[in-house]
Amino acid sequence: MKPLRPSVLDPLFAPATALSGVGPKLAKALDKLLGDETHAARVIDLMFHLPTGAIDRRPSESIAEAPIGEVATFSAQVTEHRPAPPNKAKAPYRVIVEDETGDVTLVFFHADVRHLLQTLPIGAYRIISGKLELWDGMRQMVHPDRILDPKLAATLPSVEPVYGLTEGIGGRVMARIAAGAAERCPDLPEWQDEAFAARNDFVPFRDAIHALHHPVDLKAATGETVARRRIAYDELLASQIALALVRRQQKKAAGRATAGDGVLRHAIETALPFTLTDGQRKAIADIHDDMEKPERMLRLLQGDVGSGKTVVALMAMAAAAEARRQSVLMAPTEILARQHAERLAPLADKAGLKLALLTGREKGAGRRQVLEGLANGEIDIVVGTHALFQEGVAFHDLALAVVDEQHRFGVHQRLLLGAKGEAVDILVMTATPIPRTLALTWFGDMDVSILSEKPAGRKPITTRAISLERYDEVVGAVGRALESGAQVYWVCPLVQESDTLDVAAAQERFEALQDLFGDKVGLLHGQMPGRDKDAAMAAFSGGQTRVLVSTTVIEVGVDVPNASVMVIEHAERFGLAQLHQLRGRIGRGSAASTCLLLYKGPLGQVAEARLTIMRESEDGFRIAEEDLRLRGEGEVLGTRQSGSPDWRIARPEIDGDLLAAARDDARLLIERDPQLETPRGQAIRTLLYLFERDVAIRLLRAG
Ligand code: ADP
Ligand code: MG
Repeated sequence: MKPLRPSVLDPLFAPATALSGVGPKLAKALDKLLGDETHAARVIDLMFHLPTGAIDRRPSESIAEAPIGEVATFSAQVTEHRPAPPNKAKAPYRVIVEDETGDVTLVFFHADVRHLLQTLPIGAYRIISGKLELWDGMRQMVHPDRILDPKLAATLPSVEPVYGLTEGIGGRVMARIAAGAAERCPDLPEWQDEAFAARNDFVPFRDAIHALHHPVDLKAATGETVARRRIAYDELLASQIALALVRRQQKKAAGRATAGDGVLRHAIETALPFTLTDGQRKAIADIHDDMEKPERMLRLLQGDVGSGKTVVALMAMAAAAEARRQSVLMAPTEILARQHAERLAPLADKAGLKLALLTGREKGAGRRQVLEGLANGEIDIVVGTHALFQEGVAFHDLALAVVDEQHRFGVHQRLLLGAKGEAVDILVMTATPIPRTLALTWFGDMDVSILSEKPAGRKPITTRAISLERYDEVVGAVGRALESGAQVYWVCPLVQESDTLDVAAAQERFEALQDLFGDKVGLLHGQMPGRDKDAAMAAFSGGQTRVLVSTTVIEVGVDVPNASVMVIEHAERFGLAQLHQLRGRIGRGSAASTCLLLYKGPLGQVAEARLTIMRESEDGFRIAEEDLRLRGEGEVLGTRQSGSPDWRIARPEIDGDLLAAARDDARLLIERDPQLETPRGQAIRTLLYLFERDVAIRLLRAG
């Protein structure tokens, strides 16, 4: 049997350590950022770890002309060193630089004075680059990113790519190894339709990858470039072809009718502490109708955060169990999988359903037991993460796969699940409010159910934007909320550039709040070991901790109804969709909820518009539309947060036109060359593998 992977791609699937300069320590950090439960970070993961933005380092004419509130680059003379006064050991060390038009105070915390005397000797001219701010009317720069001898001016690129980072990897190191990975991309056979590529000015794949890692102007980072469009189109084309192959297989391998008697569903409904909304009832009925038909179900359940999708999934899984068949519920993160399992267990119990949890972390005897239970049919429902795809997970009779929060998964993962049973019905749940027409093209021929109303009893959330300068007042308000029995989420942005000090690292905030509120404060971030994450989450949902300081790991799905206050620090750094997702964690209980968006001014126009929309609206669809509008005006693509191994490039809201073209292209291609045997078809196999991996090639062979 021929190997599934075209050999031309082998260099890309080498481990990251194959790159020069990546030793074991760096590799470990990269694994955290780009690996997942099934593989360590590879060259391809780095190649697709595209910049999320760019820093403009073009020099200003003079200090007076250097922009405030942004990264500024200028040349100036060093005129004075001001050490911290002896009685204030913690005060920063300051260095004054100036030109004819003004001066700037460079501020260094925990300064290495000898080093500063060397790099910034009095009288010398230096090129300085970093974020310039006004402090009491004076220009200052905390820890400049770059300090250069003017002789070396040429080594400072005028545009510098910005990458998603993680602890242990700084911006410059990441730029170097990502560029190294791009270098290793071989020349690949062209899979694009020649005329289409020419019309769109597409450059070859390899050149496009190279261009994205070496932006030459700021536009290159906004995603408007030909290079990004090319890669986005590649990705869309691959996923549309994969979908076409799935459809072909679906038609060939007829599904099975899964019909239950309603007994378990009735038991669950009676056990629910609430009554289902009409929307939920309708969705459950749609799903049940699909399952009863002999065709395979492929349905998308769309509903804003908090709209109550989980219980719909449970009812569908109960219907499968009524027919003595199994279901899986797959979550994008460990935390969510655990939470789903915990929530669903009591309900499942009451209905006499056996539910198990399976993630990469279940090991040894416990894991074996679950695997046995799945194989012999004892377990009705299994909740888990990617680990569910691993070899060795076999089902007795899998009928239904529910994929939660779809936007974190690639198509290939969805396909893998489908391959676990003969005729598995698939229900995909997403909270991403994408306009309906786009959803249809994006998800192919899926049927769609929408939960448009929120469960009854939800109180509106009051959202306020507050300057970080009023931090003390905010902390006071948090204290009062705690006294009244509320629980509080405190969200910090991930550290994107570890060398910038003004990022409120979750750890630091945790310590500061702990000083005030003692052991009522918990901490949760992506770099914590799994067990600690569980413990932190359990303590918060159990009410032992009352404030949960976290990074955006809580973004998706987490549900603690008693949490009614959310503070989002540096809200100006988040995209609209992300803010909306985060805020959806509160407003779930009976108490009135408040969301405080702490921002650091001065705000750019787009950031200001975002915060305004957040204050005005809680409607996911309106927010999605505004987001689209703002991005359309040249906003840098939403920063992908680290910790996610998923490197989706195309975005439904931006690349709608490409998507439509890719869909037509894919259909025609499969029609004319069903086994992908023509020269273009052969090249398409490489494309498919690149984006959809083994499963797509298997599908092709099965077809
Ligand atoms: P999401 O759609 O974001 O996944 P969840 O399924 O987590 O939302 O539901 C959010 C919360 O709403 C949960 O606490 C759930 O128990 C509750 N809930 C779901 N349906 C209803 C309903 N019909 N009435 C009241 N509360 C509900
Ligand atoms: Mg959910």
